[in-house]
Order: sequence, then structure tokens, then C-alpha cells
Amino acid sequence: MLNVGKIEEGFVLDHIKAGEALRLYRDLGLDKLDCCVALITNAKSKKMGKKDIVKVECPVDMLDLDILGFIDHNITVNVIQSGEIVGKQKLVLPKRIVNVIKCKNPRCITSIEQELTQEFILTDEEREIYRCKYCEVKYGAQRE
Ligand code: ZN
Repeated sequence: MLNVGKIEEGFVLDHIKAGEALRLYRDLGLDKLDCCVALITNAKSKKMGKKDIVKVECPVDMLDLDILGFIDHNITVNVIQSGEIVGKQKLVLPKRIVNVIKCKNPRCITSIEQELTQEFILTDEEREIYRCKYCEVKYGAQRE
């Protein structure tokens, strides 16, 4: 595997679907954080053929990775402390999704007032149903 420098503290997100690293970078809000991030795309993978990897160097409590459970629950989250993998974080469906997906209802207040936060609430955990906080229109979690 390509080595882009060892992380002292942070996360290595592995088994990301090839081509999705940049989207994850944005959806996790990494562009807004002042931390060192490495995106590796099209890495060889026995399991997947090709995959992306994202390495983030930051205090482990700084980054909220809940959204990964919504984007792709197959991603492996390795937690790094003192330069070693200390564990894997289990991905669960987040209770709220903020500014990642957009409400498709043209009459929704968020469609009219663009500066409002797009916020979805998990209303049915079993069927993975999210509803817009404002108009309650359903957004089906898209899993492959
Ligand atoms: Zn809405």
C-alpha cells in the first residue's frame, strides 16, 4: 500500500468505494477543519478491486463520523492513537443529517430560503427512513 506518512492521532477510513473519497471529504466537513488530510484514490484492493482511502490527522474526538453510517456502512474506520491502530469504530445510522442531502420538495422552506440548513431526522430506524425537519418529506437512505 502507498504510504503517505504515519499518523500519530486520527482516522484511517478504508474500503471506500473507488471515486468516493472527494465526496466523503466534503460531506465530513474536512475542508472546514484545520487538519492534515490525505486522499488516496484507486488503491488496489483484494476485496473490492479498487478502493479509496482517506487519512485524517486530528484529535479523535474532533471529528464526527456518524454521517459515514448513512453514506456507506461498509467503510472501515480505523482509530489511530500514538501511531497505532487502537480500534475500529462501528458505523451506525446517524439520528440527524445536516447539510449533506437536500430536500426535494419544491415547496419546502429550504428550497426557497437557500441559506437554511438542510436537516433530516431519522424517523424509522428499521426501514432507514429520514424526513426533512421542515416539511417531513421522506428521504430514503440509498444503500447498495
Ligand atoms: Zn423539506
